[in-house]
Amino acid sequence: MKTKLTISPAVAAEFILQESVVAFPTETVYGLGANAFSGNAVKKIFEAKGRPSDNPLIVHIAEMGQLPSVVATIPSYAEKLMEEFFPGPLTLVLPKNKKISNAATAGLRTVGVRIPNHPVAKKFLAECGVPIAAPSANISGKPSPTTWQAVKFDMNGKISCILKGNPSRVGVESTVVDCTGNLPVILRAGGVTLEQLRSIIPSTRIGKHHIDGKAKSPGVKYRHYSPMAYVFIVSGIEETVPMKSSAYIGLGSSDKKKFGLKKICRDEHEYARSLFHFFRECDTKKIETIYCESVSEGGIGLALMDRIRKAAIQ
Ligand code: AMP
Ligand code: MG
Repeated sequence: MKTKLTISPAVAAEFILQESVVAFPTETVYGLGANAFSGNAVKKIFEAKGRPSDNPLIVHIAEMGQLPSVVATIPSYAEKLMEEFFPGPLTLVLPKNKKISNAATAGLRTVGVRIPNHPVAKKFLAECGVPIAAPSANISGKPSPTTWQAVKFDMNGKISCILKGNPSRVGVESTVVDCTGNLPVILRAGGVTLEQLRSIIPSTRIGKHHIDGKAKSPGVKYRHYSPMAYVFIVSGIEETVPMKSSAYIGLGSSDKKKFGLKKICRDEHEYARSLFHFFRECDTKKIETIYCESVSEGGIGLALMDRIRKAAIQ
């Protein structure tokens, strides 16, 4: 299959209407989208990614007016979260509308829904006119793509179109919040922080990933975000062994140690924005060991440490 590269949301949307798969930019990471009403179109996403079919996709819409075609009911606390954080890096899990294909939700009766805060994504979703089911646009298990070049590296020849945009501003995925119970429960940390959620709904809590041995959010059980190298979590650059085949990413340090690749970030936000891109650069340079400095788990640090820990699982 030939993959078309375009900067036109309208051109990309035409592929969606032909049941094809299109990669598009968002503020979190690049997504791999298909018509969420069409099981046939959604199945092509799982094939292109090599994604296990029991891992549900997030459904993306352009504006609130499309919500009734995606979800069945909305509790009042979820409405408050939407008012504050839509559009943005927040996904709410709600009872699903029957029109959303079962392939998109991996057979669950719930659906994760999000409105991206990104001008190109918004134009594209508006042109499509239908809700777009979209996971991150990487091969399953690999770091999520934050540039169109990274999408091309993974998906060239496997999908119909890549809608090009700038590098993703947030760099980690959306926060997934279960809104099917009495209180909001975080299933996956992400771009909207626990503190931000609690400023609107103080009873928001972090979920236990497994309830009675069954994954509440199926995606969290899979190996994720993994570069080829071994990833080690260190508390500082002093703990590392610098070599040509090793790399370091972390916050400010005056240490002059030389690595094959090194990235010192200004703050946690830059660290989050850079992490997946850094992992991919390490793969290109055949780095064998990556040291990641641990950060405190406040604010975006919670999502950042979640991604680093998953990358460090061997
Ligand atoms: P990705 O699209 O690769 O960022 O992954 C989407 C994440 O959202 C995965 O961890 C999924 O398990 C989670 N997710 C999507 N839909 C649902 C749902 N209906 N219930 C629980 N988790 C969901
Ligand atoms: Mg993903």
